[in-house]
Parts: sequence; C-alpha cells; structure tokens
Amino acid sequence: MNNQKEANFSFCSFISNFSNIFFVRLFVIILFLTILHKSIYAKEIVYSGNAIQSGMIKLEIPERVKQLILDDKELNFSQNIAYIGFSRSDTLVHHLQFVFNDGSIKEEILQLEERSYDIQKIENIPKKYVEKPKDEELINRVNLEYQIITDVRKNIIYPNKNLYFIDIEQPLVSRISSVFGSQRIINGIPKRPHFGIDYAAKIGTPIKNCADGIVVLTGDFFYNGKFILIDHGVGLSSIYIHLDEIQVHIGQKVEKGENIGTVGNTGKSTGPHLHWGFYWYEKALDPLLIWEMFGKEKP
Ligand SMILES: [Zn+2]
Repeated sequence: MNNQKEANFSFCSFISNFSNIFFVRLFVIILFLTILHKSIYAKEIVYSGNAIQSGMIKLEIPERVKQLILDDKELNFSQNIAYIGFSRSDTLVHHLQFVFNDGSIKEEILQLEERSYDIQKIENIPKKYVEKPKDEELINRVNLEYQIITDVRKNIIYPNKNLYFIDIEQPLVSRISSVFGSQRIINGIPKRPHFGIDYAAKIGTPIKNCADGIVVLTGDFFYNGKFILIDHGVGLSSIYIHLDEIQVHIGQKVEKGENIGTVGNTGKSTGPHLHWGFYWYEKALDPLLIWEMFGKEKP
C-alpha cells in the first residue's frame, strides 16, 4: 500500500516536474522569440535626422510595414522611406504607429527638442504689403491667390505617393539676410514668423532647384511676386519667391542643381533677395536643418 502510495507520489512528482520543465522551457522559448521579434523590428526601422521643432527625420522602414500612422494621420511613404517634419512650434510629443502586414503594430513615442527663435525688426515696408488690403479688387486677388496655392498643395502635393527627394542643395550661395523662424515686427507691429530663409543677392543671380522634383505651380502673385513651387514627393515641397525671372513651367521635371529662375525684388520684398521655403505637408521646416541633416556644413 505504502509502496503503491510512493509509486503514485513519485509518478505525480515526475509529471509535475516534467510539466514544470516543459512550462519553463516554453516560457524561455516565448521570451526568446519575443526579444528576437522585437529586435528584428527595431533593427529594421532606421531613424536619422533632427527630432527638433522645424526639423525633419527620415525613416527607413521594412517591406512588411503596410501603414505608417503619426498622431492618427496616415503618412505616405515610398521606396521604404518616409519623412516626418515638425513645425516651428510643434507639440513636443508625437505618437508613431507601424502597422505590419501580419496585423501586428509597433508603437513609438517621438520626443522633440524645443527651439527658440530670434526677434527681427523690419521697418519701411510699404503700407500696402503690411496692412490688410481694403480695396475689394485687391482682397479678391489675394484670396484667389491664396486659394490657388492651397488647392495645389492639397490636391497635388499631399496625395503624391512618389518620392523624388534624395538629397538637398542650397538654391544659391550668398549671404543669409533672414533665418528661419524669427518673430517679425514689421513697422512696429508683430507679424507672423518668417517661414523660410532669405538670401540677399543681386537681381539676375541664378537660382538652383534644391532637390529633384516636379514644378507644380508658377505665378506672379501679390505677396510672393514671381514664384516657383516644386513637389519633391511624399509630402515634401519647396518654394522660391520674389523672383525676377521664372525659367521653368508647370509639369516640368527638374533635377537638383538645375537653374530654375533668377533673384528679383517682386511682391512683398524690401530689396533683391530670394526667399526659400521648404515644407513637409503644411508644415514649414527650417531649410538649413534639412541641409545639415544631409551632412552639409552650416553656410
Ligand atoms: Zn523671406
């Protein structure tokens, strides 16, 4: 009887030991697979660039990612590359989600660095460019021109899933007379910040396209003067304003470094200069941060 009990007992303990070992092994295998899985996912997503207000980051993402979501907004990406830009005073915490083909989701928190900006005082800008237009014809013109640019951005640039942007070049090499982001006080009145950089240069100085793309709009508008808007794909675009001459046409493919126009003093401008703006969707970025992101030295 005792023997029977002992036999039973040892059989039970054998089963219990066996199941303990089995579960421990299973646990170790699952743990190993989880770590491996996470490290594969982590390894395959490569981040570079500047996670800072008015900067941009580049993501190299694996084939298996089918959706990329930033703060509940789905982003376009192409050739396994996505860009994310941040506005001048963007919120410092963003939520990024990668949705994989197998339905699994990887979540990341993007923490941005905060930036401070200069205050810039500008005097002697003609009143017609500073005060809100009162004449009805001019109001209609300004509204129409604003609508034209907004529509091109919304309907052509934002939905474009192709990527042309590879690298960046400065549109010209000259003294920078106004940096990105400075808070402007024009004729003593605080105005919206400066959303690009200004190069002072002689009228007629050639302007180069900053990155591969397609010309999506040109015109001669009240504030911009003569300008060129170029789509670089997946939400990226650049604008060149106050030109003297426009040397490209809408629909034209343009390569980085190609001459597109010349420096002028048209529109709301106090002297010959080029205003260069670089955008990720509706967010204006600091072109010099993008310049630095590609390993170029500060001009
Ligand atoms: Zn400017």
